[in-house]
Amino acid sequence: MKIVTMLKDVVRSLVKRPFTRPYPREKQPAPERLRGKLHYNPEKCTGCCLCSMECPANALELITLDKKEKRFVMRYHLDRCTYCAQCVQNCRFGCLEMSPAEWELAAASKEPFTIYYGNEEDVATVLAKHTGTDAEPPG
Ligand code: SF4
Ligand code: SF4
Repeated sequence: MKIVTMLKDVVRSLVKRPFTRPYPREKQPAPERLRGKLHYNPEKCTGCCLCSMECPANALELITLDKKEKRFVMRYHLDRCTYCAQCVQNCRFGCLEMSPAEWELAAASKEPFTIYYGNEEDVATVLAKHTGTDAEPPG
């Protein structure tokens, strides 16, 4: 390559906008069907455990506080989840969904990877009983 041609290329590349997107400064909307973070709504949950039993990554634990009263807490291990959506398919009551908007899930510590879903009081009860995130759920 001639030196003049090379210099022209260098100058051109200095003034041209880059082809790559300036992420994370500018974010593109994620596709609607993207499988992001899993969410659990306890309202219609029956406690059948189909979601947790069939999870290939052992990422879900349903903690039953009172089956009659339908008091359940879902412990979701985000760091184990493979985003296969099998749990979403298995739940016949529509309690589980994956958010396409929540996909930037990296963290510098382990704490944000263990998520408790359920009503506030029930989650507080579970957390009070179990100090470590790897503790066994109550009976
Ligand atoms: S998306 Fe797949 S890996 Fe993640 S919790 Fe559901 S079944 Fe388990
Ligand atoms: S499959 Fe649905 S109804 Fe059954 S325990 Fe899981 S979330 Fe609840």
